[in-house]
Amino acid sequence: MVTQPWTNVPCPGCGCVCDDVRLALADGELIAFDPPCELGAQWFRRHGERGAPAAQIAGQPASLGESLDRAAALLRAADYPLVYGLSRSTTAGQRAAVALAERLGGAIDTTASLCHGPSIMALQEVGEVTSTLGEVRNRADLVVFWGCHPAQSHPRHAERYSVFPRGRYVPRGREGRTVVMVGDATQVHQWRLDPAGARPDLVVPVPPGEDFEALSQLRTMLRGGSSANVPDELRRLLDLMQGCRYGVVFFGLGIAETSMWDGPPGRHAGHVNVAALLQLVAELNAVTRFTARRMRLQGDVSGADNVMCWQTGYPFAVDMSRGYPRYNPGEFTASELLASRQTDLCLLVGAETVPYFPAEAREHLQAIPTILLDYPGTQPALAPTVRFTTSVYGLHSAGTAYRMDNVPLTLRAMLPSQLPSDEWVLGELARRL
Ligand code: SF4
Repeated sequence: MVTQPWTNVPCPGCGCVCDDVRLALADGELIAFDPPCELGAQWFRRHGERGAPAAQIAGQPASLGESLDRAAALLRAADYPLVYGLSRSTTAGQRAAVALAERLGGAIDTTASLCHGPSIMALQEVGEVTSTLGEVRNRADLVVFWGCHPAQSHPRHAERYSVFPRGRYVPRGREGRTVVMVGDATQVHQWRLDPAGARPDLVVPVPPGEDFEALSQLRTMLRGGSSANVPDELRRLLDLMQGCRYGVVFFGLGIAETSMWDGPPGRHAGHVNVAALLQLVAELNAVTRFTARRMRLQGDVSGADNVMCWQTGYPFAVDMSRGYPRYNPGEFTASELLASRQTDLCLLVGAETVPYFPAEAREHLQAIPTILLDYPGTQPALAPTVRFTTSVYGLHSAGTAYRMDNVPLTLRAMLPSQLPSDEWVLGELARRL
């Protein structure tokens, strides 16, 4: 049976959270998704899967009550539990996770620690001149993508917000904008603005690991200083930056990522790179209007930052063991707590980033009890002690998710489901402690 066609559906498939999607579902399966976006359609197809047991203990189906009791017993027995994930949840689930971590006196960290954590640290250090995507759409005549490949990670970003739309002060759309891509010299020439293969007006290749040097050259030249060996493309970029009416730089993990364990040299200082970029953007405001915006990957990772901040005062990497929140990336981040074997239980709300943990952390995760809350249609890269399959926000349950520019959007419930929400499971666990 085809359920009614749904219009203006917000899609949590990536940080764009496009809220103009039209889709149709038949017997719980996605049969139409428009405008076309394979990433978004896959998200709805994958999570619409039915028949998953609501709870499992050691891989075997179990009743919800029995699984809650078992998980609560594990939590009670733990000395220093870690709550991790949260970016595929929504505000209500994230708030329940923080409350549980506080009740347990453990640590809580989000997937930001594996992606834009360094950017958050940078903006805490030097501030951030930023804007909403609506402002970019209506005003930006120069759009720079630095260290990101939007065609792959955010397929409709260019179409909907940054490159093609006609805006109030950019009435000619694409023709009224100059678009630049800056990135790793070994890859940037292959990057595209959208899945149709749209190209930027200028490509600025940066040798791997030398973003900081390129940013320093731009800052020096902006102040009127001279810098040796400046590539022509970088000089051209500075001219465009100084000459635009409203510029924006979207930056991704290519500049922000820090790989503490096995990344190449130069990838250890993502927060330094991002701080230099944010300072450049702030300084450009002496000559024109310029803003910066992180390209957030997961659907509600921005919501996780927001909820963590208003509940604990800090965006990620928070310890509650002293009865008050303490913040220290590198000490209370999940990778470090697991790799150093300091935590003796891990509760994961979403396990999509487990493969990106260093080997020592993944090893320890298999050696301790784990409680996993995840959506149907996911194959976790760990074998949890207790698993709850929770209803999907934006498909089975309503909720609030934050777009990459921190604008909250209401997700809709379109399919009935017997699965519990993560807010309910986390609240029940807290109650049973
Ligand atoms: S760009 Fe992202 S949010 Fe928009 S439809 Fe595609 S996956 Fe969904």
